[in-house]
Amino acid sequence: MRRRGDLRRALLAVVGVAATVVAGLVAGPVPASAASAGDCRLPASPGIGNEQEGPTDYHRWLAPQGALRAVFLFVDFSDAPGGAKELAKRRDMFATAPGDWLRTASYGRATLVPTFTTAWARMPQPQSAYAGFNASFAAHRAYMQDAVTASDGAVDFAQFDLVYVVSPRSATVIANSPAFIADPGWGLSADGVELRHGVTLGADVDSWGYKVLNHETGHVFGLPDLYTYGAGWPDLHRPVGGWDLMGLISGPAPDHLAWHKWKMGWLDDTQISCATAHGARKVTLTPLGTATGLKAAVVKVSAQRAIVVENRQADSLDVASPCLHPGVLVYAVDASVGGGNNPVTVLDAQPGSPVDGCGLADAELDNATLTTAGQQVTDPASGVRVTLTGANGAKRTVQTTW
Ligand SMILES: [Zn+2]
Repeated sequence: MRRRGDLRRALLAVVGVAATVVAGLVAGPVPASAASAGDCRLPASPGIGNEQEGPTDYHRWLAPQGALRAVFLFVDFSDAPGGAKELAKRRDMFATAPGDWLRTASYGRATLVPTFTTAWARMPQPQSAYAGFNASFAAHRAYMQDAVTASDGAVDFAQFDLVYVVSPRSATVIANSPAFIADPGWGLSADGVELRHGVTLGADVDSWGYKVLNHETGHVFGLPDLYTYGAGWPDLHRPVGGWDLMGLISGPAPDHLAWHKWKMGWLDDTQISCATAHGARKVTLTPLGTATGLKAAVVKVSAQRAIVVENRQADSLDVASPCLHPGVLVYAVDASVGGGNNPVTVLDAQPGSPVDGCGLADAELDNATLTTAGQQVTDPASGVRVTLTGANGAKRTVQTTW
């Protein structure tokens, strides 16, 4: 284990050297003293227990790269049978939309290759026996294993990286759609393989639609929840509003933050401009929805915290609602806390000014962006100030001052 970790650090160091040179050429205004992108990564915090902002441990989570082969299992119950029309409707919900979304969000670096069973497989127990299916890992695993075993006659599980279990609307006990992530040795068995990654899709797919699959698959890829566990409405969504789907599943910009795209390997180190020292610098950012160019200016302000600046424009998956104000989004990333405990907080350029007529969950942060030259926002904890200094087409130039 130690040897593998050392090798990974050595590789990062090599990549970091190359990134400094290329970032200087692309960004122009970045001073020669700019740090390499790798210097702005935050460390994993031991003991957090769930997804977090440090490097993802891909021994546990699934690497979001390449063609991911997913099997969708339709399962029903003696006391909650599924209908043929309902199976077709659920299949249509997941047939293309999540794959299109993943391909776009990852700039083509990850794709979903779905396969669907063609009939409901009857579970061995009535739905009532699965009450509390989400109360513990063991209960969730037992539900998943029964679904896999019930479907085994129709599926060669050796062909798949991901397992999605879909229940009918009448199975109200399966109320929500948690991700299943098992450490090696703790997964499901079928066809001589171990299955460690998936999602059980329950009754809430009828309210969230396919977007709940995107959110839960984000957990499978190691991303933390960005809403606040235990908070009331609408404070629940105050950390990031509708700017990232790990904060708001139905968010009007159903994309991932640049920080998470970098964490997942969908952005290269050459697309991140990093500063770790006090001073001012200017960086020109291309929109998050386009594949190329510099995507984020990061100021690492302490061992576990960074300020991130990105350019959010109405394109691709981004800013799909007129409620959101396209512009420069600034947020703080805190690697000392895990999912649900506010690892990301958007810095609001116009605090206390909810956008009328928009979703309650995201209204306060819909106009959090810097939209006009000279406008600025400051991180009170570190004193980092971010100023929008100019625009050229969809590009935005910002100055960070620390
Ligand atoms: Zn979640």
